[in-house]
Order: sequence, then structure tokens, then C-alpha cells
Amino acid sequence: MNDQLSTDTPRRVLVVEDERTLAGMVAAYLSQAGFTAELAHRGDDAVAAVRADPPDVVVLDLGLPGMDGIEVCRQIRTFSDCYIIITTARKEEVDTLIGLSVGADDYLTKPFGVRELVARVQTLLRRPRGDGKPHDTEGGTHSFGALLVDPLGHQVHLHGQPVALTPTERDLLITLATRPAMAFSRRQLIDEVWGTGWIGDEHLVDVHIAHLRKKLDDDPDTARYITTVRGVGYRMGKG
Ligand code: CA
Repeated sequence: MNDQLSTDTPRRVLVVEDERTLAGMVAAYLSQAGFTAELAHRGDDAVAAVRADPPDVVVLDLGLPGMDGIEVCRQIRTFSDCYIIITTARKEEVDTLIGLSVGADDYLTKPFGVRELVARVQTLLRRPRGDGKPHDTEGGTHSFGALLVDPLGHQVHLHGQPVALTPTERDLLITLATRPAMAFSRRQLIDEVWGTGWIGDEHLVDVHIAHLRKKLDDDPDTARYITTVRGVGYRMGKG
């Protein structure tokens, strides 16, 4: 995994937060960490800003004037696959949220330490993306019935059609597909996809797997593509 953030062009983070003091503090810490931080204080402004010039990461508060954060996330996902971290005031909200297919990559409960938030942003950006190298050295496309996973091209096709996945869903699938014989624990998947520094509820993995299965039309009972390995976690292939 590449641990070095690119130093030539600073990565851009859009902070969407209506509490201006908090927004300013988050922006200051992000700038200090070498990011270009931009601010939006309203939901509709945030969608417009991402549409005009997509940032690398959006830090998204839920309670916003103009348009609530869930709707902001949904709208952004229709035209951008930038990383989205949702920040919310209540722990219970996170549980509800991760049950909704809003397409966020990570969640942070308020009050959060701003350093923790910066660490989460850095972790997301360390993930291999379209320009990064995949974990396997084999390359090539992996096929599972009607499903084709191309780790180098970061492409996923089902029945010949491209599947629209969030970056997190795609990275999870690529991790599983490049080592199809291996049963991954939730922690192993977190280490691969979120990074070894990620701390939080490991059941976040289950939620992203559930979204992935829905998009792949993969019923957990029949499990054509992703199998639940009891007491372990997940592996690729038929159950
Ligand atoms: Ca708010």
C-alpha cells in the first residue's frame, strides 16, 4: 500500500458543515495536514460545489439548511465517486444510516476529535484508486460466473454491463476477488480497504457487503458471488 500522499497537487477536501466554528476548525486542521480545504454551509451549495469541481473527499454533516446530508450524499453519488465521510451527532443515527444505501465511505460520530477526522481523510486517500496499483501482482480479470472483476482497470461488469459501485464497494470486491480462495475476516477487509489505522465498528463491512450484494443481485442465501463464512467473514465465490 502506498503510504505517501502526493505532494505535487494538494488533495482537495470539501467540508460541508453549518456550524461555522466547527467548519473553520476542521478546515484549519486539514490545511495544516497539507490539504486544500473548501467550505460549504448549506446542502444545496455543497452539491453545486461538487458538481462544479469535484473534490477528492467530502466531509458531510447531516443536519444542514438547504438540503439534508443524506440527500446531498445521494445526489453527489449520481455524478461523482469522490470519497464521502458523513459526520453525525448521534451514534444511533450511524446505525440507521449505514442501513440506508446513501453511498458514504465512512462515518464519524460527533463530537469527534478533529485529528481523528483528518486521519480518516488521510486513510481514505491512501487507498489505491484508478491511478494506484492493486494489491495483487497477477493483474488480469477475475471472473465469477456472469461477474467480471478487473482490478487493474478498476472495472466491474455483470452480464456484460458495467456495475456502478461506490469506491468502497469496488475496493471491497476487488480485495475479495483478487484472492478468491481466501476467507477474509472483517478486520482483514478493513486493513485492506480502509487501512490498518482505521478504528471503529467492524460491522461497517457487513453493511457495505450488503449494498454490494444488492447491486450484484447476489442473495445471501444463494450467494453466487460473495459467500458468508460463518465465524470468519467473507470470501469470493459460490457458497
Ligand atoms: Ca449541522
